[in-house]
Amino acid sequence: MKKAVFLDRDGVINRPIIRDGKPFPPTSVEEFEILPGVPEACAKLKAAGFLLVVATNQPDVGRGTLARETVEAIHAKMCAALPLDHIEVCYDGGSAHGQPSEFRKPAPGMLLRAARELGINLAQSWMVGDRWRDIDCGAAAGCRTVFIDLGHDETLRATPDYRAKNLGEAADIITATTRP
Ligand SMILES: [Mg+2]
Repeated sequence: MKKAVFLDRDGVINRPIIRDGKPFPPTSVEEFEILPGVPEACAKLKAAGFLLVVATNQPDVGRGTLARETVEAIHAKMCAALPLDHIEVCYDGGSAHGQPSEFRKPAPGMLLRAARELGINLAQSWMVGDRWRDIDCGAAAGCRTVFIDLGHDETLRATPDYRAKNLGEAADIITATTRP
């Protein structure tokens, strides 16, 4: 069985767009900017034997305010720059549109699907994210979690296993921690 690091996208891989103190995803390829240290962190995790799987909610697509083609173009740019193995995207617009999808974080559906398709042992895997939904999702999937604290105005629900200030620090924690 393989092990993986599941990566939230916005705020972990790329710089979030901040408006009124709240983080928003980039709305164009031009706005998509990979954060410093991310390529090195990805290389370090790959060298330690982890698959890298991005798991991202993109609810603006479901709400009709962002084109799916834009998200796909952003992901093409991201895949060209980083050694990613797989990308999971949930386009569900959220609770305003009825029952949320089993794939929308905090539900663990994206991680469970990727684990099934790629043969990943979730107990040997990690979820890294900057929002409560990421931590709850990782915990629900049975992964260990690292919370990237960007100072968002938000209260966590599940308690993360570790905290870090960026993906580089998270990669250091993950590669230094082994579960017997
Ligand atoms: Mg995020």
